[in-house]
Amino acid sequence: MYLIKNVRLYTGRASYERGAVITDGGRIIYAGDEASMTAPPILGGVSVIDGGGGICMPGLCDAHCHAPMVLLRGEGADLPLFDWLSCVQEMEENFTPETIYTGTMLAIMELLRGGVTSFADMYFECADMIRAVIDSGIRANITRGSTSVEGVRSHIDLHREFDGADGRVRVYVGLHGEYTSDENVARAAAETARELGVGVHVHMSESRGEVEGCIERHGVTPPAYFERIGLLDVPVIAAHCVHLTDADIDILVRHGVYAAHNPASNMYLASGIAPVAKMRARGVNVAIGTDGAASNNTLDMFREMRLAALLSKVSTMNASSIAAADVIKMATETGARAMGFDECGVLEAGRPADLCILDGGALHLHGADIASDIVYAACGADVRLTMVNGRVLYRDGEYTTIDAELMRALASSARKSLRK
Ligand SMILES: [Zn+2]
Repeated sequence: MYLIKNVRLYTGRASYERGAVITDGGRIIYAGDEASMTAPPILGGVSVIDGGGGICMPGLCDAHCHAPMVLLRGEGADLPLFDWLSCVQEMEENFTPETIYTGTMLAIMELLRGGVTSFADMYFECADMIRAVIDSGIRANITRGSTSVEGVRSHIDLHREFDGADGRVRVYVGLHGEYTSDENVARAAAETARELGVGVHVHMSESRGEVEGCIERHGVTPPAYFERIGLLDVPVIAAHCVHLTDADIDILVRHGVYAAHNPASNMYLASGIAPVAKMRARGVNVAIGTDGAASNNTLDMFREMRLAALLSKVSTMNASSIAAADVIKMATETGARAMGFDECGVLEAGRPADLCILDGGALHLHGADIASDIVYAACGADVRLTMVNGRVLYRDGEYTTIDAELMRALASSARKSLRK
């Protein structure tokens, strides 16, 4: 049991200049004003965390990532999309189960260090990724970026073996994208997700070339194509959603698709600007993701929130096109729901205790409004503590479940092995 006190509390529903949170097991039993805690816990068996006046908020939910790509950070820098892709893909051939595990664990260290408590991932060697998720204590939705029917069907065994794990692991079905699969593969993804009763994670309408190619191949845009073959009849995380027509946006609304907005990656690879304000105004669920570290190049969801807000404002030339609280909701509650972790993303009694605490001594985090401090002033390096499912996994530079020194040592040999 933890009593977190002396924090500026942002719950996702309300904020308190001096708040407190009490957790018991994996759940929150109180989140609110410190002075009006109705039943202060008996202090035996309770660990007190003094937040030192720092912000306490829901843990961030990274809705689109490729964790092991932390080992490819910086590769192909400043190249156009397709040159970058061939550079990265050549090295991806050299991944082994061991380097996938190491890469996933390094990514998890970076995510926890930056206050992220759950992430949705698409890569390969998923069993090794899930082992890293289980060993570290973080929460994740894992899929394979399938390009074949065989790849799609491999989710059946993965789901049987791993879906569940304290409610921390979800296995959805991953389809890499329209341009890397044919109609049989896409139909198999839809069918497999229906059979398993889960959702699909897919790249959609990231670049102009992808949309033009899809129209040539199928006569319609990617959202219309996926709707036609039934892929949108299950829950969907659609990464990017940059190049959308008004009719595409209607399709996303009709099927309750979760668009995972990746502002840094879309700028880094010069893909374009997703119409976030328009999507939100029309009722699309928009979450936020970092994408892989090879096209970002950080997994810092605070920076991602800031970019999402600023990009929306400048692209619409409207400073009110999005509010700080909206951006936090995208990066917490909406992201959690996209991954199938419906109870996460808000600090309220009865919900899972996934949260982070920022540095109370940081002078830039004491502005007029907590939400504004979180989105416009904070960065991942301000995080002092990250808790997932009621367990402290990161605190003041130390990891409680990960041998950080070992992982750092393995990182350099793993990087070398990818360059062979
Ligand atoms: Zn991606």
